[in-house]
Order: sequence, then C-alpha cells, then structure tokens
Amino acid sequence: MQNTLDLNPEERAVLDWIDTRADGMIETVKAWSAINSGSRNADGLEAMRAELETAFAATGGEISAIELPPTTVVDPDGTVREQAFTPAFHCRIRPQAPIRIVMTGHHDTVFPAGSHFQDTTLWDNDTLNGPGVADMKGGILVMLHGILGLERSPWKDEIGIDVLISPDEEIGSLGSGPILAELGAGADIGMTYEPALADGSLAGARKGSGNWSLKVSGRSAHAGREHHLGRNALAAACQFGLGLDDLNGKRPDVTFNLARIDGGGPPNVVPDNAVVRFNVRVKTENDRVWVEAELERLVDEIRVRDGIEAELHGGFTRPPKPMSPANAKMFEWTRAAGTALGLDIRWQDTGGVCEGNNLWAAGCPNVDTLGVRGADIHSDREIVKLSSFAERAKLSAILLMKFAQGQFDAREARALAKAGPQA
Ligand SMILES: [Zn+2]
Repeated sequence: MQNTLDLNPEERAVLDWIDTRADGMIETVKAWSAINSGSRNADGLEAMRAELETAFAATGGEISAIELPPTTVVDPDGTVREQAFTPAFHCRIRPQAPIRIVMTGHHDTVFPAGSHFQDTTLWDNDTLNGPGVADMKGGILVMLHGILGLERSPWKDEIGIDVLISPDEEIGSLGSGPILAELGAGADIGMTYEPALADGSLAGARKGSGNWSLKVSGRSAHAGREHHLGRNALAAACQFGLGLDDLNGKRPDVTFNLARIDGGGPPNVVPDNAVVRFNVRVKTENDRVWVEAELERLVDEIRVRDGIEAELHGGFTRPPKPMSPANAKMFEWTRAAGTALGLDIRWQDTGGVCEGNNLWAAGCPNVDTLGVRGADIHSDREIVKLSSFAERAKLSAILLMKFAQGQFDAREARALAKAGPQA
C-alpha cells in the first residue's frame, strides 16, 4: 500500500465544496462545447473569450485581453502573408504574492466552423461526447475550480496566479508563444490543463516540434512548345520531399513528416510554384541543431537546380520537454496529491506537444495534463469522463493548497530548473 497524503479539515472543506460544483461544471462544458471555437473561427473564439471573462470573474482576479502579434503564413499558391490572431485571455490574481504560478490552457479547438461535429451527446452516465469537451473546455473548468478552491482556503494569499488561455494552441501557439515565454520566465511553476488519458495517466516527457512551409519557385512554360524554357518547381519540391522523408531513421527519436505539397496546374504547363509542408519532432536540443543543419542542406540541394528559388518559412515552435529533475518533482507532488483522493496517478512519455513545452523552454517546471480524463481528442469521438471534473479540480486544489502552505515547495522546483538544462 502506498502512503497517503494527509489533508487537514480546511482542505477537506474545500474538496467538499468542489464536489458541490460538479453538476455545474458539466452543464457549463455542454454550453461551451456548443460554441464553435476552431482555431480560425475568430467570432467563435471571441464568444468563448467572453464566456471566460464571465466565468473567471468569480476568482476576483484582474481580467484583460492580450493582443497577440501576427504571424506569417504561406498560402497554397505561395503567397506569403500576415495572419492575425484574436486576443488571449489573461487573469492575474495577487501579482505581489510570494509564490508565483502560471496556469495555462486554450479555448481553440481543431474543429472548424463548418465541421459536422458541433453537438454534445451523452453516451453513458459517465461519458459525454462533444467538440472540445476534453481538449480543453473541460480542462479550463477544472483549472477554474481548482483556483476557486484555493480562494476558499485560509492560505490563498501565499499564491499569485497568472491564467493564460490562448486562441492558437491547436495551430502551434505561434501568436501566444512570446506571452507563454514571458509568464513562464516569471513563475516558479506551471500548471497546464490538457486532458489526461481516460485511465487518468498524465503525459511525462514530451518531444519538441516544429512546422515548416517551403516555398519553391521556378518558371512556367508551355509543356509542348517550350518545355526546355520551363523550370519545374513541383519537381524540385518532390526532390526536397523525398530527401526529407529519407531522413527518417537517421537519428533515434527524430521524425520527419512530409505532410502536403501544393502546386502545379494543367498538364500542359511546366509548374512555376509549389509549397511543401512538413513537421519534425525531436527529443533533445542536439537533435534540433542537427535537424536545422539537415534542412539547410536539403534546401541548398534544390537551389542548385537551374532557375529554382526556395524559401523556408517556419521553425521549431515547441522545444522538447524532458523528464528533468525539476519536472519529475512536479510529478512526484501531483502523484502525492492524487493519493489523498485515492488515485494512483501514472504517466507516460509522448511525442505530442503542448504549452507545457513552451513553459519549460522558459525555465518553468510544469505538469501539463491536469485537465479532465478524456479520449479520442481531435476526432468526432472526443469524450470526457464526467466523474473527472470534480476529481481533477480537487487534484489541482490540493496541489495549490499544498504549495500555499509550503508543504510542496514550488520554489524548490524552480531552483532545480535553474540548476541547468538537464535539471
Ligand atoms: Zn489541447
């Protein structure tokens, strides 16, 4: 039998209160799921942000909107243009408090405005199917009720919180990346609300990830009359794509995914334009350096083709998040908090990435799957386990209250992270 973390009467009272909020959380997640907030649906994202403003008012924190810098995107026809984001939601609670915690989430989903998946359906007493119910509208409610739990405790003044809920997580956090870095650098620890697995396991180490678009230009010509004058951009793009795919297996744990090639047109025209999209996942910083050198080599190899120009856009957006001593400490505390609820919390490494990567890159140790228990996210089979709303909100409340009382030393984790890149 494992040791169980002891709770005092004040902590128990907070947990009892959270239990009374379970039905409310479930009603709210149904309402929020009905608001389509695909990453490109500006109206839906703003409607969701208004919901967040109403819900988080109960924390007493100072609520604001943070404008995000635009990013550049490459259209399928090769046009490079700026892409704007809707603002992120920010709630600042007790900025002068001695312990600083950053809590992050996102209100965008992978389901666009025109998706067929817009409704919630109760599959059984414990299973709700719907867009974003787990990833992560449910998680945001878990975060909120963890905070509200802390606010009802006698130790709340020890902890200051920055809540950041971003509109662009599902498309790589390019807009909110700088804000995540700033808040991560200023906090002792981070708590992020991606869903746990259905069995309650959390994500451990995470790979790093980057997305790129390679714009290739050539010269068009009539395929019959003047083929020799054409410079085939699509052929050069294919050469790059095959070279990229060949890199798979060259280095352990590094993967290259050739995702899409746009370009070309009628069969009687030499194509003068192509865009190659790809994703790369890495495990270490050294991997990242190697990948960048290999990409440069591949681009140079197609640039030597006569009349071909190539421009690489994009880069690594989320560095790797290792199971370092500082992150392991966070897991140890989360696991201990779980024992107070009779939970046996485990974790497993993943190739998936999230805001926890961004926070770690800023030196902020964190646990990033503190949200609801769910499954099949990013598909129309996405579900949330209803019993996990109160369960996971209580888990967060215990963590926050233990940090507030110094029983878990948030600054110890931060000091471990500062000890070096492997810490
Ligand atoms: Zn998510």
